[in-house]
Amino acid sequence: MVKNTESPYVATINYRSMLYQTQDMKCTKCKRIRASTVRKVCECSGNYTLVESRSSFYTAIKLFKAIAETFRFSSLMETVNFLTMVSE
Ligand SMILES: [Zn+2]
Repeated sequence: MVKNTESPYVATINYRSMLYQTQDMKCTKCKRIRASTVRKVCECSGNYTLVESRSSFYTAIKLFKAIAETFRFSSLMETVNFLTMVSE
């Protein structure tokens, strides 16, 4: 038996989460990436939004949850549950 079949999945979803949490914001009007974290609105007066949407991130979370359920990966399930909790 391979001991840690699920660890690549755990590593992948953790990495995916890190990218989501640390991602840039972009302007909804001119699509430029926010240069300063201090600015609340863009120079063009457009609002900033996440580059990767919350729903896109949750689609990935749901996929990993399905994998965890299918293969009974307990560590992956714990990670997915934790990420769901902290991202809400
Ligand atoms: Zn703009």
